[in-house]
Amino acid sequence: MQQIPCLDLKRQHQAIKKEVFELFEQVYMNTAFSGGPFVERFEKEFSAYTGLPYVVGVNNGTSALHLAMLVLGIGPGDEVILPANTFIATAWGPSYVGATPVFVDCDPGHWQIDPIAIEKAITPKTKAIIGVHLYGMPFDVDAVTAIAKKHKLFLIEDAAQAQGSRYKGTMVGGFGELACFSFYPGKNLGACGEAGGLSTNNEAYYKHLLSLRNHGGTVRYYHDEVGFNMRMGGLEAASLQVKVKYLEQWNNRRREIASRYLKEITNPKVKMQSQPTWADSNYHLFVVTVDNKEAFVQHLTANSIQPGFHYPVPCHLQKAYSHLGYKIGDMPHSEYLAAHAVSLPMFAELSNEEVQHVIDTVNSFA
Ligand SMILES: *Cc1c(COP(=O)(O)O)cnc(C)c1O
Repeated sequence: MQQIPCLDLKRQHQAIKKEVFELFEQVYMNTAFSGGPFVERFEKEFSAYTGLPYVVGVNNGTSALHLAMLVLGIGPGDEVILPANTFIATAWGPSYVGATPVFVDCDPGHWQIDPIAIEKAITPKTKAIIGVHLYGMPFDVDAVTAIAKKHKLFLIEDAAQAQGSRYKGTMVGGFGELACFSFYPGKNLGACGEAGGLSTNNEAYYKHLLSLRNHGGTVRYYHDEVGFNMRMGGLEAASLQVKVKYLEQWNNRRREIASRYLKEITNPKVKMQSQPTWADSNYHLFVVTVDNKEAFVQHLTANSIQPGFHYPVPCHLQKAYSHLGYKIGDMPHSEYLAAHAVSLPMFAELSNEEVQHVIDTVNSFA
C-alpha cells in the first residue's frame, strides 16, 4: 500500500485544473488581481451556497478575526472568551486589538467549548465570546447564544474549519454578530493561495467591513478611518468560485468516510469525538485520542498512514501567552486532547480501499 497522507491536496487540484485555469486566464486578461469582480462573484456564490446574506472576502482567516474585533469595537481593557483547544489564530483577533483572550476548557465528550466554563469566566470586562466550530463540528450554539444574550456579550463564530457544516440543519456563519471563515488551501474550501472571509446578518457591520479591508474607505483615495489592506486576490477568488460548486459534494464524501470510521473503528483503545445530535459536521478533520499516542503513531506510520496533530499545544500554554499566567492543569480536557490527539487521513479523494486500510490498521493497534 502506498503512503496514505493525512491530507492530499494534489488529487483535488489535478481533478479541477482545467476549470480553474480557465478562470485564471480570465482574471489575467482582465488584470483583476486585487479585489474586483471575481471577488464580488465569489462573495455572491458563497452567500448563495450558505444562505448567509452578507459575505466579505478578505486576504486570510486571521484578518477576518482581526476585523471582527474592530467592527465590534473591542479594544484595550476588554476580555474575549474563547476555547483553549483551537488553532492559535482564534486568539490573535483579541490580541491584535489590545484585548485579552480568556481561555476556557472544552467538553470532554464533544471537545467543543464548554458553556459552563464560559459562564464561570465572565467578568465585568468581558465583551465577547468566540465559539469555534473545531474540526468542522459545530459547538453548542443554542447554549452559548443563551449565555451571550443573558450577559449582553457579542458572539463571534470562528467557522474557519466549518464551511458547509450545519447546526440543527442551518449552515453555520449566521448565529452570532459575525462569523469568520478561512479559505487557506488545507481547509474544506481552500483557495489556490491565501484567503478568508466574514459573514454577518447586519448591514452596518457589512459596510464597515468593506471599508476596513480597503484602507478605510470605499471611494478611491478618500479615507474615512484608519484602515487595512486586507483585500482578497482575484486569482484566489477565481479558484474559490470553481471550488465552491463542489463543496457540498466533497463534504458529503467526507461525511461518508467519517461514518465508516465511526462505525467500523471498534478498537476500545481509540476514542472518538462524540457526535452531538445538533451537529452535521463537514469533517474538516477526523481526530481520535489514544492514551499511548506514541505507540499508536508508530503503528500508523509502520502501516504507511501519515498521522496529523491538531493541535499539540493548547493556546493557554503557548509561549506567546505566558504573560497571562496560565499553568498546566488549568484546562485538563484541552490538555489531554493536545497530548493525545491524532488526526486520521480525511479528504474527499480518499479511495474506499484506503479508508478500509485506515480502519483495519486502527483496529489492529494493540
Ligand atoms: C485556519 C484557521 C484560522 C486562520 O485562518 P488563516 O486563513 O490560516 O489565517 C483561524 N481559526 C481556525 C480555527 C483555523 O483553523
